[in-house]
Amino acid sequence: MVAVDDDDSGHSIAIWPDGGYWMRGVRKGRIRLGVCLFACVLLAACERSPRMYERSLYVFGTLVSVSAWTSDEAAFDRAVDQIDRRFQSMHRDWHAWRGNGELVRLNQALAAGESMRVSDFLLPLLIQGKALYDASDGLFNPAIGRLIALWGFHDDEPSGGLPPDPGAIAKLVDAAPGMDDVSIEGHRIRATNPWIALDLGAYAKGHALNVAIRILHELGIDNAIVNAGGDLCVSGGHGGRPWHIGVRHPQGEGVIASLDARDGECVLTSGNYERYREYAGVRYAHIIDPRSGYPVAHIASATVIARNGALADAAATALSVAGAPLWQRIAGRMGVDEVMLVDGDGRVYLTPAMKRRIDLTPTGGARGK
Ligand code: AMP
Ligand code: MG
Repeated sequence: MVAVDDDDSGHSIAIWPDGGYWMRGVRKGRIRLGVCLFACVLLAACERSPRMYERSLYVFGTLVSVSAWTSDEAAFDRAVDQIDRRFQSMHRDWHAWRGNGELVRLNQALAAGESMRVSDFLLPLLIQGKALYDASDGLFNPAIGRLIALWGFHDDEPSGGLPPDPGAIAKLVDAAPGMDDVSIEGHRIRATNPWIALDLGAYAKGHALNVAIRILHELGIDNAIVNAGGDLCVSGGHGGRPWHIGVRHPQGEGVIASLDARDGECVLTSGNYERYREYAGVRYAHIIDPRSGYPVAHIASATVIARNGALADAAATALSVAGAPLWQRIAGRMGVDEVMLVDGDGRVYLTPAMKRRIDLTPTGGARGK
């Protein structure tokens, strides 16, 4: 058989090298039937064998890629369309400074001393935000939106000018807005501290990644990876193999480490290279220490593996703030035991559980614990 063509009846038929198509009558009919059956079996086999599908979305200011190992391309497409819609609405509703989404309206209400009823989508995130704030001893603090804005990180492009006035920073630190000042009764949110402004940037993406995996499961896609600019959650594997992932090097190109992600895990990294402003050769990163009001300077990146994406995300931010002296205590309190920290001098700190499963690239060099 050398090619496939259409006969005058419109059916696909095979053309044999010896010109077999000229055969007539019963014999031709049998051959056609055989060819059709063969084509059907081939088609069914093709439809059943899984392969890799990938699509990219642009949301949360980054490229999100959804990959799946599946034989159901249509279900994959439907899942990615749903993920796209959910992510776009999360981006609109949970944006801390742009538009008139739910979070912007909540912050306006809280600043005016009013309460607001929030949706079923936002409520669980706020409840979790309070719990994670407590567990992190306040180092993860989504109530410091005003400090984040003061540092210029509520601009699409942070300015490169002088850092904010130290007096203004001290005023916001003294006001001490925290998630324990946010009260939740049913769906109604109020704040006892007028300096509160909520910013979900440190854990909303992790939560969104879990939601994406759930959508894929609902549509029967069990082997997938959703990767938002290096932060990811996985389900299953591909072709009998686990998803092998790399963690970006915080101080240069390439990866600092790689690992096999297990079914249901999320791997989230906070890094001072992600978003920062620079003045007089000093880099001011977007992760703010709520105790001082200043950006974290000692930690270059923190990577956390956990099954709950929001927890992994919040912990990565909190551990960046905690730094070398405190990170083990805070990790223990937050219930994460697979952690990698890289400090400003390139030293790598690993929990024993992380050490057992991560491969540091030769330049990564593990030091410390
Ligand atoms: P991530 O990349 O997950 O560490 O999140 C960083 C983002 O979270 C920043 O751009 C701020 O919007 C916000 N953020 C900065 N510092 C903190 C903090 N200490 N606690 C909670 N959110 C923070
Ligand atoms: Mg985070």
